Amino acid sequence: MSDLAARSLRSVWHPCTRMKRAQNTPPLAIARGEGPWLFDTQGRRYFDAISSWWVNLFGHADPTLNAALKDQLDTLPHVMLAGCTQESAVQVAEKLSARTGGVLGHAFYGSDGASAVEIALKMSFHAWRNQGQSEKREFVCLKNGYHGETLGALSVTDVAIFRDAYDPLLMRAHTVMSPDLRQAGPDETAEQLTQRALQALADLLQARQGQVAALIIEPLIQCAAGMAMHQASYLRGVHGLCQQWGVHLIADEIAVGCGRTGTFFAFEQATLPGQQAVWPDFITLSKGITGGYLPLSVVLVRDEIYQAFWFDDAARSFLHSHSYSGNALACRAAWAVLERFEHDDVLARNVQLSAPLSQAWHALQGDERLSHVRQQGMVWAFDVKAEIPDFSERFHQAARSRELLIRPIGQTVYLMPPYLLKPDDYAWAAEQTLATLQDVLNLETAVDRFIPRGIPDGC
Ligand SMILES: *Cc1c(COP(=O)(O)O)cnc(C)c1O
Repeated sequence: MSDLAARSLRSVWHPCTRMKRAQNTPPLAIARGEGPWLFDTQGRRYFDAISSWWVNLFGHADPTLNAALKDQLDTLPHVMLAGCTQESAVQVAEKLSARTGGVLGHAFYGSDGASAVEIALKMSFHAWRNQGQSEKREFVCLKNGYHGETLGALSVTDVAIFRDAYDPLLMRAHTVMSPDLRQAGPDETAEQLTQRALQALADLLQARQGQVAALIIEPLIQCAAGMAMHQASYLRGVHGLCQQWGVHLIADEIAVGCGRTGTFFAFEQATLPGQQAVWPDFITLSKGITGGYLPLSVVLVRDEIYQAFWFDDAARSFLHSHSYSGNALACRAAWAVLERFEHDDVLARNVQLSAPLSQAWHALQGDERLSHVRQQGMVWAFDVKAEIPDFSERFHQAARSRELLIRPIGQTVYLMPPYLLKPDDYAWAAEQTLATLQDVLNLETAVDRFIPRGIPDGC
């Protein structure tokens, strides 16, 4: 074990880690990062195939982002956002609003994804109350959905490993069927499954008429559930139902935003070509918004909701005080990320450069060992059929010896790499992933091989 890892285990309580087991599988002690590569204190390198928990969009230590941050550091690292404002917070709000055609015209800032979800839930309830509908205080979420782990966000999260221990502390939300396409019955088409999920939601909204404040969903991919993908037509259907029953729609784009699904916002794919754009009432962003540099989250809000707080009375203003709201350094990173999207045609370039990985994935269709080989934008996933004990840990460990940093979720292996600049890097990542799969499936037959444990399924 490296000295840094040993010190870390003596003083740091690592997230998503069984600390007892971490004694056998110490954390990688990372000294520096460059592009998609992380280098440990012994000089070994690892390809960050999961963008350090889905945050790192343009690689580590990107020169443009670094320059922007150094400039901000010398000018204004932070100022409180109550009673003061500063350029970078305004730039990010303006740019994000413009990306919704001005429909979601205001941005409220938090520092992490879970608190963005808290903010959206509070705002939804409070907006209804300000409009004389205080009985709308229930929330609806999807089966296997994930929205963060503070108590409010956990209340609308349905991932057992994160939720069960704290369940007695949580508020009660309604959970409806997920549109996850993997559940389709043998004779069921994707569209039929989607309609079945929409019908379940319609039934619930009808039954709870006048009581529901908001529905929260992860558009197109339920990431923490194991990259569960659904059809864009589900989003259109959900949008229609929310309008019909007077329910706010919160699109949690914390993981899927910033180009991950092929469009800047995943929800953009709900709009049919040539038709009027459909937008949710709230969009939450975090993770990729600062390119994986600094903690920041944003809640984008539709103007009608913003208007519901237009009072002199403090009790009817939105109340959520956060010390670092709109932090200038974090916003400067986000500003630089948004400029990159404007100037570099990132979305089109991603499709082009990642073609070798998409092809490799396509070739896996029909592979007997796998099921549900799937891709949506910059997320590639498959499920491994064989039920191998501690599969995710084994895969993670085997991948490390191939210079690949990857953490399967249960039986799901996925790649969510930074937006790379070389097709060769994508091809290499595909090769190493498949070689690791081969290693793990072979190892499974070598029963005497001891694989240390340390990473729980689900994160
Ligand atoms: C990661 C995530 C969150 C929580 O974000 P944190 O910054 O980890 O609190 C919420 N929603 C979704 C969809 C996420 O993927």
